[in-house]
Amino acid sequence: MTHPVLHLTEPAGSRETVPGLPPPDCRYDRQVSGSSPTSARALPRDIAELKALAQRQPELAPAAELQISLLETIRRVQGRLTTPWVSATSDELAASLARGVPLLAFDQIPFEWNDVRLLIRQIADILRRYDAVDADGVTALHNAGRAADLPERMRAWFAGIPSPDVEMLDEVLVWAARPYLQRTAEVLQQRVTFEAWGRPTCPVCAGEPDFSVITANGQRQLVCGRCLVRWAFAATDCPYCGNHDRSTITSMATADGIYRVLICQPCGRYLKALDTRKADRPLLPYADPIMTLPLDAAVMRRAR
Ligand SMILES: [Zn+2]
Ligand SMILES: [Zn+2]
Repeated sequence: MTHPVLHLTEPAGSRETVPGLPPPDCRYDRQVSGSSPTSARALPRDIAELKALAQRQPELAPAAELQISLLETIRRVQGRLTTPWVSATSDELAASLARGVPLLAFDQIPFEWNDVRLLIRQIADILRRYDAVDADGVTALHNAGRAADLPERMRAWFAGIPSPDVEMLDEVLVWAARPYLQRTAEVLQQRVTFEAWGRPTCPVCAGEPDFSVITANGQRQLVCGRCLVRWAFAATDCPYCGNHDRSTITSMATADGIYRVLICQPCGRYLKALDTRKADRPLLPYADPIMTLPLDAAVMRRAR
C-alpha cells in the first residue's frame, strides 16, 4: 500500500466519545498539554520515521528528505542554545494565561542574530536543492537574511504580519525562529499548565495550530505551527474561524484510523490529527505532517 486509503465518515460532531472509557493504549499521551516531550529528545525518532517513510513511499521521499535536511540544520543550532532566563513566576504566568495573554513577547526570545542569519542562508540553500525555490528566489532569501532589517522582519512575522515581497520568506522564518521559540517554550511549559487556556491560538507564542493530537481520553490538543507547544481545544470546533456548527465540519480518516482530518466548510481550512487511541506511539511533530501529505492531497481533491 502506498497511500493510506481514505474514506469519508460522518460529520465529526456525530462521533461520540465515551467519558471514562479505558483507552486501548495508555502508554503515551497521558500527559496533558504543557508537558509534551521536548524537541531535542524527540528529533531522532522523527528522523528515523522520515527515513523509513522515504523507503516505504518513494513518492513522499523528496518531502521526507527535505524535512530531514531542515531538521538537521536546526538541530545544530539547538545544540548550542543556552537555556533562556525567564524571570516571571509561575503565578505571574498563570495570571497572564487567565487574562488570555500569551506568555511570550518578541523581545523575550533569545535570538542570536548571527546564527539566525546563517540559518536563513542554510534553509534557503536546502529549499533550492529540493527545487522549492528558483535561483532568483534563493538570492532574495539570502539577501533578506543578510539585511539590516532582519530583526524587524522577524518581529513582524512573530506578530502575524507576512513578508509577501520575498517568496517563501515566511516559511523560512518559521524554521529559523523555531530553535529559539521552542527552547523558550520548553522553559515556560515547565512553569505553568495550559489546561485552562482553551483558545484557538498558542498560549506561548500566539501562533496558529498546524496539527493536532487526539489523546487517549478523546480530548483534542492543538499543536502550534511555530513553537510546537500543545494545548487542549474543543474536539470539533474550527480553530481558524471559530465555527462550531458540527454539521458544517467534515471528518475524513485514514483506513487504519490513525490519522484524521477535520475540514471546515465555512472557512475552507482543515486540520490534521494523530489519533493516539489508534496509533501505537506519541505524536512525531516533524514526521507526522509529512506522513499525512496524502491526506492534504485528498482534501485538495475534495475541494475541486
Ligand atoms: Zn506557539
Ligand atoms: Zn473554519
